[in-house]
Amino acid sequence: MPLRTLILGGTIEATSLARLLAGDARFDATLSLAGRTTEPRPQPLPTRTGGFGGIAGLVRYLREERIAAVIDTTHPYADQMSRNAVAACVEAGVPLASLVRAPWQAEPDDRWQIVPDTEAAAIAIGSTQRRVFLSLGRQELHCFAAAPQHHYLARLIEPPQQQTLPPHLCLIQARGPFDLAAETKLLTDERIEIVVSKNSGGSATYAKIEAARTLGLAVIMIARPDKPAGHVVRAPEDAVAWLAHASRRGV
Ligand code: NAP
Repeated sequence: MPLRTLILGGTIEATSLARLLAGDARFDATLSLAGRTTEPRPQPLPTRTGGFGGIAGLVRYLREERIAAVIDTTHPYADQMSRNAVAACVEAGVPLASLVRAPWQAEPDDRWQIVPDTEAAAIAIGSTQRRVFLSLGRQELHCFAAAPQHHYLARLIEPPQQQTLPPHLCLIQARGPFDLAAETKLLTDERIEIVVSKNSGGSATYAKIEAARTLGLAVIMIARPDKPAGHVVRAPEDAVAWLAHASRRGV
């Protein structure tokens, strides 16, 4: 019997894992997306969309769908989903592996200021008017309304929904990966002085950090949240090996 597997997704790694599992007769996998983007990337696996309804909802889903293994491949800043996954898998007795992306490390020429959250990032820009590049999700933009003196350029996958936004805000709609030449040109053309970023890790969005280093720009880096994990794996291939092991054990 193929192993009924749930992938908690929303990342490049989730898509890579979905590609590895699609057509592999050992697994019967479903990819779960939060539904934040109206046009997600096409996926090679059956996909379900939307929250489960907290821990209780996820426990119910795992039982009803007879899920035998869960892989959490959510983004490093999607901590609520991971907390729920750990608690629900314990309650339902389902093994959980978590694909944990290594964070970026500051290099000698990097000018990072690490702050605990988005609200602190808005304060850290300072009182003097600056030109700021925001590389964040659309749910976080409202935090910068508290620092309305700056000029913001925000890059998003989709435009923000109704929320309070800073007054001087330009939006670019784009989805990574981004390369160093284009990021350097963007920061230069837009006369950016400060970059605000999450420490997402991985290569798809790293070019802006390299570009900031090359241009000598300050980066306000929002620290990662506490994100609980199951059995930690580092790459989609390791997740497949873990699943194969679980399948052989007959979980
Ligand atoms: P979050 O704060 O951890 O999750 C909030 C709620 O959204 C969860 O409690 C859950 O609702 C639902 N949810 C999240 N991921 C889900 C998934 N894969 N499948 C079904 N429901 C999910 O997450 P977030 O920061 O809003 O991120 C949402 C999604 O975007 C995640 O899948 C993440 O991988 C992706 N993403 C996030 C970021 C980021 O910076 N946060 C960046 C890139 C991609 P219920 O409690 O109702 O189950």
